[in-house]
Amino acid sequence: MNAKDAVVALSGGTGSSKFLRGLQKVSNFTVVANVGDNAWFHGLYVCPDIDIVTYTLAGIADSKRGWGVRGDTFKALGALKRLGSKDTWFNIGDLDFATHVFRTALMKEGRSLTQVTLTIARRLGVGGARILPATDAHVETHVVTAEKGEMHLQEFWVKEKGRLTPERVRYVGARQARATNEVATGIDKAERIILSPANPMTSIMPTLSIGGFRELFMRSKARKVAISPMLGERAFSGPAAGMMAAKKLRPTSLSVAKLYKGLIDVLVIDESDRAQAQEIERTGASCVMTSTLMKSGEDEVRLAKVAMEA
Ligand code: GDP
Repeated sequence: MNAKDAVVALSGGTGSSKFLRGLQKVSNFTVVANVGDNAWFHGLYVCPDIDIVTYTLAGIADSKRGWGVRGDTFKALGALKRLGSKDTWFNIGDLDFATHVFRTALMKEGRSLTQVTLTIARRLGVGGARILPATDAHVETHVVTAEKGEMHLQEFWVKEKGRLTPERVRYVGARQARATNEVATGIDKAERIILSPANPMTSIMPTLSIGGFRELFMRSKARKVAISPMLGERAFSGPAAGMMAAKKLRPTSLSVAKLYKGLIDVLVIDESDRAQAQEIERTGASCVMTSTLMKSGEDEVRLAKVAMEA
């Protein structure tokens, strides 16, 4: 197996963690996780993408739901509802609450998000992977909607159920943020950087928008491989299509190639999107075609192998 720093994977949450579960069977690696989803709920610092990646790689995630811990209960959330809390639209299970309480307490003692993330991963038994937040600074992905103006991505997707029309996506605090030393060294030393199958607008772009990150990424001599989260004219799941429309981009692998232009050497696309390959290659990335659907553990491992060999 490779050393953890030879392979670096940029990640979001649900799509990424399926892929990373496959990669865990193929290689050691470092995850650079999106922090744009982070938010405060009930006085606690919640990191949805970091947590789903951590729970998945520790083997305790609720994979069917795509978030939280398997077998979790929701008694604390019920109690908060009874007390009249306004923030109960964001589902947090009882075991999940423990992560946020623990994280917030350590951060209040002065520990960085990086230190806390590494501690939680170790204590939950994540093997073969090092999980790093892209930055220790607070960055928030905001969606500007036609109907209700600007809001946090979680509000757009969970509270408003993704029903509003996105006009623009903003990464608040990203430009002033800096990648941590751990991330900078990781990117610099990597032999292969993989952009997980993730929502480009809300999982990858927030990280690429961090001050100096793009330059850091481009300076790295690593082979850079992205896996498309698109199939035909739609995303496999989630709000990526509407958000790309706000950027006047069709929700296709070709648009993903345009968004990542100049950044990647290879784009892995679904074989049914073969017709887009030529135009994708005109953006400067070579195209690898395979089945990109991850429905089973075998699919996840197969796609991970393709990303490691592309
Ligand atoms: P989020 O933070 O929960 O939105 O998680 P990600 O950004 O990591 O994952 C969401 C993205 O994963 C969506 O854009 C989906 O289209 C994509 N996705 C979900 N399932 C699959 C799959 O089976 N294959 C591929 N290639 N992409 C997927």
